[in-house]
Amino acid sequence: MSMILQRSYIKTLSFKVWICFFVLAVSRIRCIPDNEVNLLDSRSVMGDLGWIAYPKNGWEEIGEVDENYAPIHTYQVCKVMEHNQNNWLHTNWILNEGAQRVFVELKFTLRDCNSLPGGLGTCKETFNVYYYESNDEEGRNLRESQYTKIDTIAADESFTELDLGDRVMKLNTEVRDVGPLTKKGFYLAFQDLGACIALVSVRVFYKKCPFVVKNLALFPDTITGSDSSQLLEVSGTCVNNSVAEDLPRMHCSAEGEWLVPIGRCMCQAGYEEVNGSCQVCKPGFYRSALQTQSCSKCPPHSFTKVEGSTSCQCEQGYYKRDSDPANMACTRPPSAPRNAISNVNETSVFLEWTAPEETGGRKDLCYTIQCKKISGDQGHYKLCGSHVRFLPQRTCLRNTSVMVVDLLAHTNYTFDVEVVNGVSEFTAPLRQYVSLNVTTNQAAPSPISVVKKGKTGKNSITVSWQEPDRPNGIILEYEIKYFEKDQETSYTIIKSKETEVVADGLKPSSVYIFQIRARTSAGYGSFSRRFEFETSPYLVAASSDQGQVPIIAVAITVGVILLAVVTGFLLSGRRCGYSKAKQDPEEEKMHFHNGHIQFPGVRTYIDPHTYEDPNQAVHEFAKEIDVSCITIERVIGAGEFGEVCSGPLRLPGKREIQVAIKTLKAGYTEKQRRDFLAEASIMGQFDHPNIIHLEGVVTKSKPVMIITEYMENGSLDTFLKKNDGQFTVIQLVGMLRGIASGMRYLSDMGYVHRDLAARNILVNSNLVCKVSDFGLSRVLEDDPEAAYTTRGGKIPIRWTAPEAIAFRKFTSASDVWSYGIVMWEVMSYGERPYWEMSNQDVIKAVEENYRLPGPMDCPTALYHLMMDCWQKDRNSRPKFEEIVSLLDKLIRNPSSLKSLVNTSNRVSNLLVEPSSTELSVYSSVGEWLEAIKMGRYTELFMESGYTSVDVVAQMTLDDLRRVGVNLAGHQKKILNSIQEMRVQMMNATLAI
Ligand code: AMP
Repeated sequence: MSMILQRSYIKTLSFKVWICFFVLAVSRIRCIPDNEVNLLDSRSVMGDLGWIAYPKNGWEEIGEVDENYAPIHTYQVCKVMEHNQNNWLHTNWILNEGAQRVFVELKFTLRDCNSLPGGLGTCKETFNVYYYESNDEEGRNLRESQYTKIDTIAADESFTELDLGDRVMKLNTEVRDVGPLTKKGFYLAFQDLGACIALVSVRVFYKKCPFVVKNLALFPDTITGSDSSQLLEVSGTCVNNSVAEDLPRMHCSAEGEWLVPIGRCMCQAGYEEVNGSCQVCKPGFYRSALQTQSCSKCPPHSFTKVEGSTSCQCEQGYYKRDSDPANMACTRPPSAPRNAISNVNETSVFLEWTAPEETGGRKDLCYTIQCKKISGDQGHYKLCGSHVRFLPQRTCLRNTSVMVVDLLAHTNYTFDVEVVNGVSEFTAPLRQYVSLNVTTNQAAPSPISVVKKGKTGKNSITVSWQEPDRPNGIILEYEIKYFEKDQETSYTIIKSKETEVVADGLKPSSVYIFQIRARTSAGYGSFSRRFEFETSPYLVAASSDQGQVPIIAVAITVGVILLAVVTGFLLSGRRCGYSKAKQDPEEEKMHFHNGHIQFPGVRTYIDPHTYEDPNQAVHEFAKEIDVSCITIERVIGAGEFGEVCSGPLRLPGKREIQVAIKTLKAGYTEKQRRDFLAEASIMGQFDHPNIIHLEGVVTKSKPVMIITEYMENGSLDTFLKKNDGQFTVIQLVGMLRGIASGMRYLSDMGYVHRDLAARNILVNSNLVCKVSDFGLSRVLEDDPEAAYTTRGGKIPIRWTAPEAIAFRKFTSASDVWSYGIVMWEVMSYGERPYWEMSNQDVIKAVEENYRLPGPMDCPTALYHLMMDCWQKDRNSRPKFEEIVSLLDKLIRNPSSLKSLVNTSNRVSNLLVEPSSTELSVYSSVGEWLEAIKMGRYTELFMESGYTSVDVVAQMTLDDLRRVGVNLAGHQKKILNSIQEMRVQMMNATLAI
């Protein structure tokens, strides 16, 4: 028996040796994770471990060393043969370093009881682990009962004798955690109850979340919590030169892992983040806002010479607003706005300009308009009052245009268009602006708002009123319209220069409606609203004697007035016609019934040649200007009598204006002087926005001069040629309307122009066309030879009606012919009428009924109007009045201009025969309607724009209804005739 035991003991010893070798091998490859901190590692203790075994013959230390002679602390026990084993091995005191939860890692081998010789009923395959907490090393002699059990440890793998033979070592590793610990340290104890164990190593450690830099915050080593599921929230501290954006925090898990980072730190301004630290920005770079990641190069026009810059400094002359983003370049105030232009429309001005060449690098340009009203010729000015309105606004305009309304008429204004941007304030008071001088046009007076009733009789009412708020010029007269209430079709008009009239001849006890309007040279303003006044009741009680007194008085007054009127008429008749001042009564009265005037008053033009002394005529109609008021600056053209120049005119007490100065060249004859000044005498009688305005004459010094308003765009023919194709049809029609309006005025005045042509129309900067050149008429009239030897020795054949060429029948109707040619010139942008045909050929062609073809892209309606102007029969030509109203209609209804003359199928520069395009049988719409006994509709057709047979040929039943032909029978008759007309026209076209 003892032999067997002895043998087995020996085997046990050899097993011990194998353990040691194995432990050595393990210890060499061991490495500890960085989240574990060892409190004890039996393998790393160089000297004596100092553990105590009890009883002494239980656990024993095997005194082996490794190849470096370092001890290998291995304890073994193998009392499997003896009963009642209770062997304890006590460690020395282990300081827990503040950890509340520690881990015990045991590496051991355990002998399989079954592999031991039979009969070993006491053999165990487990051992127990205990701990005892204390604040100091007090417990060297602890009793077992004082320990707290951690666990019973069993081997996952136990080994047999066979394993020993194969030299296979089955090392077990078991880890148990202990906690919560509350004291400074503890002891461990291993209890063996009869197993065969070799405790190869004991490692005691706790876990920590290791120091880490996360989101620019430092998180220190953090010992995990006492609970296995506990997360410890740990606050980080920002790395150098960084600041907490949101307090950085992380959570340390029981396993020593950092979890759930919250918040972060940011490098402070002047620093940027590089690999988890904040590094200073280099010179030339900056970092301002905490939002940007890295240092940026200084934006254009800025610099920094130091490191760690939080911003860059602007170069000299460049600026930055606080609100500008840091990465925005430094900027400058803008240069002045450019190319300012104005477009005056009566008392409104449209100002337009282009943005400054130099915006200063900013987009926040803002324009403000300074409006100054210029008074006197010294350039004194007052700021415009609040009555002047700016659309959309006056200040800080973002667009480069503004509409200024409610200005005074005939007034000089200066508009400063000032521009600022976000940095202009840094250079204040330096202003960047462009100035525009603008003279408002004439405008009709505003309506009269205050009308009062004065003395009232049974047959009369005295009415007075106040001047309109905005007269817009000198009020020439007032027109008072009145009628009995509800009897509007029969009314009376009184014209008065005063602001009070007596309306007489009224019925007693009756209500009368009064409306008043003012007239200036710009025309009539709108009528005031209706004012209702009542006459006094009829007084039956008046005595017959008393009643006779007024009758006698009235009879005497009427007699005196009649005498005065007759005398006045005779006196004025002496001077062949009409003297404006003498013939215009202070008050004119006209009665109207159903729109027809009952007592018309006419104003006519006086031929200056009827004056015995032409100088007298000049001074009657033209103002003498002192030559010192005129500065001749430029030559702008060549006139018949000398140069035409321009320059400023400064009349005392008046603002300076630009004028055209026509001079009479030296060496003139008396006749030439008279003819030269005749133009001024004629022009001086006119006052119309479409007639060139005479400022005055210089006759008292030499050279003799005629001073007129200055027309910036010169003569219309040159202007059109220069701007070929640049205008809209509406603009062209607008020009034509202006010319027609001027001509209507002249024809109303009884003046025949005789030389109406685009070259004699002047154009101002607002595209307003004005009729000029009033010199030729007298030449033609007086000197039959001169008709063929005027400028260039040519009568204006191409512009002149056939009857005027043939037998010098110059009338407003021949002016209408010329007007048709002007229309053609305008619509073809200044093309020469009849091109290079000779005058003789033109005369012949026109005589043979050939006419100019429609200009390229000319609206049909306009071409028809031209053709109407070129009717052979002068009485069939439209009147200027009709032309103006037709053009007005076309302007109001632009779609009527859409249909264009079909020029594609005609060879250009070939004349057309009106009979081939117009209905040959009828030369006018009137004639046609008369022929089909529908003449009553002529006026309605004309008013609706159906002025030519061509247009009529397109009419439908609806068109007829619109015109006002409502009777079914008439509609049928007219439509049948139109149908016939179309067939004829088609045949005519096919025949060409
Ligand atoms: P006239 O002798 O009137 O035909 O003028 C000769 C030229 O002088 C015209 O063709 C125009 O170019 C120019 N001219 C005449 N009057 C004016 C004016 N009021 N404003 C501008 N240019 C003018």
